[in-house]
Amino acid sequence: MQEKGTISIHTENIFPIIKKFLYSDHEIFLRELVSNAVDASQKIKRLSSLGQYQGELGNLQVEVSLDEEKKTITISDRGLGMTADEIKKYINQIAFSGATEFVEKFKESKDANELIGKFGLGFYSAFMVADKVEIQTLSYQEGAEPARWNCDGSTEFEITEGSRTERGTDIILHVNQDSEEFLSKYKLQEILDKYCRFLPVPIKFGTKTESEEDGVDEEGKPKYKSVEVDNIINNTNPIWTKAPADLKDEDYLAFYKELYPFSEDPLFWIHLNVDYPFNLTGVLYFPKVKNDFDFQKNKIKLFSRQVFITDEVKDIVPEFLMLLHGVIDSPDIPLNVSRSFLQADSNVKKINTYITKKVADKLSELFKKDRKAFEEKWQDIGLFVKYGMVSEEKFNEKAKDFALLNNTKNEYFTLDEYKEKVKPIQTDKNDTVVYLYTTDAAKQDAFIQSADKKGYDVLLMNSPIDNHFISHLEQKLEKTSLKRVDSDVIDKLIVKDDNPAHALTEEQTTKVKTVFEGAISKPNMKVEIESLSPDELPVHVTMDEFMRRMKDMAQMGGGMSFYGSLPDNYKVAINGNHPLITRIAQTEDAEEQSKLAKQAFDLALLSQGMLTGAELTEFVKRSVQLI
Ligand code: ADP
Repeated sequence: MQEKGTISIHTENIFPIIKKFLYSDHEIFLRELVSNAVDASQKIKRLSSLGQYQGELGNLQVEVSLDEEKKTITISDRGLGMTADEIKKYINQIAFSGATEFVEKFKESKDANELIGKFGLGFYSAFMVADKVEIQTLSYQEGAEPARWNCDGSTEFEITEGSRTERGTDIILHVNQDSEEFLSKYKLQEILDKYCRFLPVPIKFGTKTESEEDGVDEEGKPKYKSVEVDNIINNTNPIWTKAPADLKDEDYLAFYKELYPFSEDPLFWIHLNVDYPFNLTGVLYFPKVKNDFDFQKNKIKLFSRQVFITDEVKDIVPEFLMLLHGVIDSPDIPLNVSRSFLQADSNVKKINTYITKKVADKLSELFKKDRKAFEEKWQDIGLFVKYGMVSEEKFNEKAKDFALLNNTKNEYFTLDEYKEKVKPIQTDKNDTVVYLYTTDAAKQDAFIQSADKKGYDVLLMNSPIDNHFISHLEQKLEKTSLKRVDSDVIDKLIVKDDNPAHALTEEQTTKVKTVFEGAISKPNMKVEIESLSPDELPVHVTMDEFMRRMKDMAQMGGGMSFYGSLPDNYKVAINGNHPLITRIAQTEDAEEQSKLAKQAFDLALLSQGMLTGAELTEFVKRSVQLI
């Protein structure tokens, strides 16, 4: 039996195209060929279970082997094999049926994944790394003859009698000169680890090593012999393929360690399992991220029937959950199409919605089951939850019942609870409830204490997302505004009807103002006399809430560049009821006045961590003189 023929292709030779334009992802040839071998193995298993194949199944593992001398990589399976006719049908024709379209499309795309999958060219990706490819195969069908297919990368192929004696297929790649990097066991091991780690059929990767002792030589030293070390490189039953009911916490934790060997244990996890209206399984883990934004994205791995596809899961996983870890497996995600197509795909949208819902349900369950434990985890999960509330309305709808606010006393409240708590005392004369917050409890301590004296509560808002979360709360909560505790003096933050006037006369007010204006050396400071309790500090320095928010936004790249370019404007609030201010108002000695004013102003700066450098040195000197 010998047959020569021409691969049916109506346009120019496809191989140069495959080699040249699919450059960036050459390594996926191995994924494609091993996947084909796995498919063939699973097919024979199915035929056997259906009674359509009566013979022995034998050991169904797939074997990848490397011969560095002959410069070949061989992928062998004990799958269903092919007859010569099937080779013609599946390899020669089917693979190229899309060739004309392919040639048209390759011009627009450089993504090998996209092209290879879309045009059913899996097998032909072999030609990205090989200039000659050989198939040796024996079909499971009774009386089948072994067949050999041989192609040197031109459109010419050859089918002859094969030499395989066992059912199954060998794909032998004669690696080309440009691809010799793949003739390294480390390289192959790396590729197999990446794409084939969870394939459902055992994959054996055979490499030669020199490690086994073989007696001793004449001098009594141990002799080593070269042995084949066979490694099964994959876990054929990863946990996402199992039923949640069959799994314990240890299993989830062990799998997490398998995926991310050096990570701390995750906080909790969600087992995804749907088969309608789309197919999806997976396990998502909530890692510990604390408050820094120094975490890694792209930690979720996307699989399709246990074949690794990518760790870029954008669009499939909602943006706010990109920090989760774990795996998603779905045959329903169009894996081989371009990004814009993915965004428009209705399955992808449904999956995105499903994941959002599952995560919200899980969080709600944790909250209801054990509030204390939930509060303890809030430092870590708060970031996700707030991000999710800000960015996804559907998530917000559910999360508003379990999202927590925590205050400077380390107490936690739900949104509803907090409203109940502060409403009676923190409602201003316009009926607006004012939530006070601090972004830095140490720096803003003087203001927090002022609030405390009034019986007001102060929330901690020190995570990177809180800027957005604060605006979000204001939008969602009725008649509520949030103010940073140092954005004004306490009576101006929550203005009540009975705010008393300060004790200075009009003349004294003007005088004190002038003295302070003269004493303050910093630009952009506006002096105002306020009415505060006599036991408050004589001077506070504040920055308007609106102004500061705009500047914060500008700094975070929120498109407020106009505000970003403005200088920091502060208010110097003078406590008109403080004895020191009365003293300044009453003294006639101009030098004394200025000295006291400077000292009081610097004390305010000092208490807010704003006094540094030469100004701090000057302050220390002056203080020493004063004592
Ligand atoms: P796809 O896998 O997307 O169908 P391929 O080009 O990778 O496209 O393979 C074409 C066809 O060749 C397969 O559908 C299968 O019928 C056949 N084939 C490829 N590899 C094997 C193998 N190892 N054993 C049996 N059949 C195979």
